[in-house]
Amino acid sequence: MDFDEGQSEEQRAFRWAVRAWLEQNTPAQVAVPADGSPLDQDTQVTIKEFRRKLGAQGWLAPNYPREYGGGGLSPAAAAIIQQELSQLRLPTMGDNYRWIPAVMSWGTEEQKQRYVLPCLRGETITWQAFNETSSGSDFASVSTQAIWDGDDYVINGEKNFITGRFDPDYLWTLAVTDPDLPRHENLGLLMVDATLPGISIKTLRLLAGSERKLLLENVRVPGDCLVGHPGQGWEIAQGILESERSGLPARYTQEDS
Ligand SMILES: Cc1cc2nc3c(=O)[nH]c(=O)nc-3n(C[C@H](O)[C@H](O)[C@H](O)COP(=O)(O)OP(=O)(O)OC[C@H]3O[C@@H](n4cnc5c(N)ncnc54)[C@H](O)[C@@H]3O)c2cc1C
Repeated sequence: MDFDEGQSEEQRAFRWAVRAWLEQNTPAQVAVPADGSPLDQDTQVTIKEFRRKLGAQGWLAPNYPREYGGGGLSPAAAAIIQQELSQLRLPTMGDNYRWIPAVMSWGTEEQKQRYVLPCLRGETITWQAFNETSSGSDFASVSTQAIWDGDDYVINGEKNFITGRFDPDYLWTLAVTDPDLPRHENLGLLMVDATLPGISIKTLRLLAGSERKLLLENVRVPGDCLVGHPGQGWEIAQGILESERSGLPARYTQEDS
C-alpha cells in the first residue's frame, strides 16, 4: 500500500523517521502461538520492552494528550505512526483501547493518572472482564458481585472467554455493586489489580482458539477503583459496546487484545 500518496514533504520525512526507528527497535523474532494462547514469558518480556519504548515517546497513543501518556501529535502524524505499526509482524500488543475512553469520560483525574498514564506509556496491560458463562451480550445478567465492605469492595464471581496474550496488571471488571437494585441500575465498573489474592486465571483451549477464564474469590479492592458512581456500570459498559460493536471503535491506542 502506498501510504505516501497525497502527503506533504514533511509528512513523508516523518514517515521515514518512524520507519527507521521501528526498523531499529522492533524485536526481530518472537514466538506467537497461532491459537491465541498466552505468550511465553521471554516473548512477553521482549514485547513489553518494545511497548515501553513506544509508550515512552507517546507512540502507543500518538494523538492523545501528553499529560496522559500520549504523543500530543496531529491526526496526520498519528495516522502515519499507526500505519507503520500496522505493518509489523507482531502479536496485538495486549492492550485494550475500549476502557480508556471510558476512564477518560467517567474517571476522576486521579484515576486517569493511575490507569491511563501507565497504560499509554506501555507499562501496564489491562484485560476487559465483562463476559460470564451465563452472561454474554446481555450484560444486565452479570452475576459477579462487588459488595461494599468498610472502605472496600469484595468481589466474587467468574469471568469467561476473556482475551489476553500477556499477563494482566488490571482487570476492567463489570460487577453487581448492589444486588437489591433492579437490573441495569445495580452494576459498577471496577479497575481491579490483577495481582490481588483471590484471583485465579485459567487458559481454556477451545476449537476456536484459546481464551481465559477468571475466578474472583473474596477479592478485596479499595473503593477508589470504582470508575463512575455505583450503579453507573450499565451506562459505561453500553458506551464501550457502542464503539466496540458499531465497527467504529475509538482507536486511541495501538491495537487491543
Ligand atoms: C474470540 C473472543 C474473544 C472474547 N474476548 C472477550 C474479552 O476480552 N472480554 C470480554 O468481556 N468478553 C470477551 N468475549 C466474549 C464476548 O463479549 C461474548 O462472546 C459476546 O458478548 C457474546 O456473548 P455470547 O457468546 O454469550 O452470545 P449471547 O449473549 O448468547 O448472544 C447470542 C445471540 O443472542 C443475541 N442476544 C443476546 N442477548 C440478547 C438480548 N437481551 N436481546 C436481544 N438479543 C440478544 C445476541 O445479539 C447474539 O446474536 C470474547 C468472545 C470471543 C468469541
